[in-house]
Amino acid sequence: MPKCAIVIFMGTELKTIQSKKLTRCAIICFYPQVLRPIHSVNIIAFLTLVLVVFSWPGGSRINAAVLDETIRVAIVKSASEVTVSGEGLLVTSEGGNPLVVTFPATVKTVKDGLLLEGKLYRRLTFSASSAVLVNNKPYRGLAELTVADKGILVVNQLPLEEYLVGLINCEISSAWPIEAVKAQAIIARTYALNRKAARSNLPYHLESSVIDQVYEGCLIEDSRARRAVNETEGQVLTFGGAIIQAFYHSSCGGKTEASENVWGTSLPYLRGVDCQYCLTSSTAATWECRLSLKELEERLRSAGHRVSGLLDIKPGSANSRGRLKQVILLSSKGGVTITGEQFRRAVGYGVIKSTRFTLKSIKNEISFSGSGNGHGVGLCQWGAKQRSLDGFGSGEILAYYYPGTELKKLSDIR
Ligand SMILES: [Zn+2]
Repeated sequence: MPKCAIVIFMGTELKTIQSKKLTRCAIICFYPQVLRPIHSVNIIAFLTLVLVVFSWPGGSRINAAVLDETIRVAIVKSASEVTVSGEGLLVTSEGGNPLVVTFPATVKTVKDGLLLEGKLYRRLTFSASSAVLVNNKPYRGLAELTVADKGILVVNQLPLEEYLVGLINCEISSAWPIEAVKAQAIIARTYALNRKAARSNLPYHLESSVIDQVYEGCLIEDSRARRAVNETEGQVLTFGGAIIQAFYHSSCGGKTEASENVWGTSLPYLRGVDCQYCLTSSTAATWECRLSLKELEERLRSAGHRVSGLLDIKPGSANSRGRLKQVILLSSKGGVTITGEQFRRAVGYGVIKSTRFTLKSIKNEISFSGSGNGHGVGLCQWGAKQRSLDGFGSGEILAYYYPGTELKKLSDIR
């Protein structure tokens, strides 16, 4: 599809020139009535300006690299039924054939296929100039339906920059100081491109949940989110010339974590740094919860841990970043030691918000008191907010949380 068209009017004649390399658009009018009052010097100046715009190397290359970049996000998984609607939708089947469909369209799974209006398909693609509504949520780009894991998989494919605009308000608030919002845009872009490279042979690049990055379509886009994405267009964090694994989290509670303490893999730019900045927000930094031993045992057992008759829980040793390395589960059959990460995953990431916690037994319950929210690796979002309020720019914020990295344009590394 052409990215640009120059339309030249010459009397009654209309000519259109198309070029894939051009990323800006201009209309040059050569009607004699329009030309007459224009001084020849002005014409030359105007044409010079047009030539400069089209031949400006940096701008064209940056826009081309960014605009060509798409991302595939899984927005629905293992569903038995999906409803699609929207204005002016184009529907195609696996062969690329356009289908005539009544909306809203309900797609169901039958055996290994998709059932739509009595006919069976392997793949259905819905696209629109504005948005495709999948289960009443609007998404930019196109929605691709296939069957995977005994249900319908819906992948939203869209330009990377549009994905980022939708993502900002899912991860933070675009009302935060703009430099913090810009830092979020850069790390979300960096994270997405790193995952895209790692999963290029898979049906999609990213989950739409906390497993990767939270993304709810374009419903909560706004002008500040778009501004942050536009002002950081194409910017990514690199280390040694390669796009980094830009992990990030909500708040660290005082110190960010080294990657090897969470995933066992050491990365030079994810060593952990001190961060007192998120502590200025008490609601973001601290948390408490209380769970019965019975409830805890049920959650641990359903996560596959062999616990029977849980009597008590004891904290194991903490690492240098202040996070629990182990948790000891005491039951009638003795003690079982699991890692802090395993404990958090089993009980629930939303309940045990970080592995930086203390606990105490109160009758048949355990009371947890912790700080930080998330795995603690990479950028601390609430810390970035405070750093931005303190006057730091997005580049300075990122350099602090990802030491040794360099901010680069996509066009400079490809
Ligand atoms: Zn922090």
